[in-house]
Amino acid sequence: MLKCPNCASKDIGKIGINQYYCWNCFIELSVAKGIINTHQVEEDGTLSSLDDLFEEEERRYTL
Ligand SMILES: [Zn+2]
Repeated sequence: MLKCPNCASKDIGKIGINQYYCWNCFIELSVAKGIINTHQVEEDGTLSSLDDLFEEEERRYTL
């Protein structure tokens, strides 16, 4: 089960292939090679990475 690295919510919606959205804190998540990448959607629609905020341990995604 995918869990949001930011807020630990499991209220995650799928928005594309390997792409997810956290309905609790409104960040976008993508999964690549077992690591969750986190992105914030800016007001102008661009994505900025939040990965620096998390340890790799927190971002690891295991099935
Ligand atoms: Zn979240």
